Amino acid sequence: MSMKKIAVYTSGGDAPGMNAAIRAAVRTAKAHQIEIMGILHGYVGMIDNQIINLNPRDMGNIIQRGGTILKTGRSSEFLKPEYRAKAAQNLKNIGIEGLVCIGGDGSFRGAQALWAEHQIPVIGIAGTIDNDVYGTDDTIGFDTAINTALDAIDKIRDTADSHERVFIVEVMGRNSGFIASAVGLSGGAEEILTAENMISVDKIVDKLKDSRAKGKTSSILVTAEGQKPGRAYDLADAIRKKSGLDAKVCILGHQQRGGSPTAHDRILASRLGSEAVLSLLKGQNNMMVGTNGNQLVALSLEIVTQNEKRGDTSLIQLARLLSV
Ligand code: ADP
Repeated sequence: MSMKKIAVYTSGGDAPGMNAAIRAAVRTAKAHQIEIMGILHGYVGMIDNQIINLNPRDMGNIIQRGGTILKTGRSSEFLKPEYRAKAAQNLKNIGIEGLVCIGGDGSFRGAQALWAEHQIPVIGIAGTIDNDVYGTDDTIGFDTAINTALDAIDKIRDTADSHERVFIVEVMGRNSGFIASAVGLSGGAEEILTAENMISVDKIVDKLKDSRAKGKTSSILVTAEGQKPGRAYDLADAIRKKSGLDAKVCILGHQQRGGSPTAHDRILASRLGSEAVLSLLKGQNNMMVGTNGNQLVALSLEIVTQNEKRGDTSLIQLARLLSV
């Protein structure tokens, strides 16, 4: 049975490139004579029936915009089956036969529940700056976020160098160190601190003293925010006390979520947005489309949500080797 009407939504944390994915989904649907609607504010709008028509012309001038034109949201109500039933009924009332979910792990768990309880087919696309989704090389927004952070580090380097300081730059990444590792290596950091690479203050101080003895006059340390944003301040305090070096902090924060998506993210989002619609039309459901190498791949949402993408410490080791 071929579908006549589907819907797309963005959910959880926003990420640059989500709009390019929405655009690709809408225009691919149009090319296959499928009607496509947009659900506002993720699961919040699914429960509250905030569902709008989307047409290909509305997609003009959004490929370069960060954020998401559909807005995003987090819904504690959606964790309860009775609210998921309400959401499913809203979708069925207007004849929606399939969904494209752009979000992270949590959003995919919600999508799985919709399939399990109400047999609404969902195809997921990983959109999160953290890159912490199993089964795809890259998530939409990661490349933009690391380039935004890198741009900031390049600027911080100038002042670190002029004042001969240690700078601790804290980047985003709730539980994952993907942003920190990529930014640290590409920004020439001396050390990168992530959950996979927790180093004692004593070791950091030894390293900083050693590099000073070898003639290095300024240093950049990159730390992932982890569960406790702002922890860079504690680290700077400890370094100052133990080494006497002038350690400053820069917390990059939410600017990493915004901005115009890079070419890489626009290409990724366009490919995945289009593929998600084609997958629905082929009768697939409860899957995520992603990339492996440069190839598009599809994995069941169950595998995606039950596995953790492992942080790769090889970038951290390389950064350490190259920063002496
Ligand atoms: P992300 O998708 O970026 O990981 P969240 O973890 O905040 O973001 O999840 C987004 C939304 O997905 C949540 O607010 C909730 O409504 C829904 N969700 C998360 N986990 C589940 C679950 N186990 N069952 C049903 N819905 C869920």
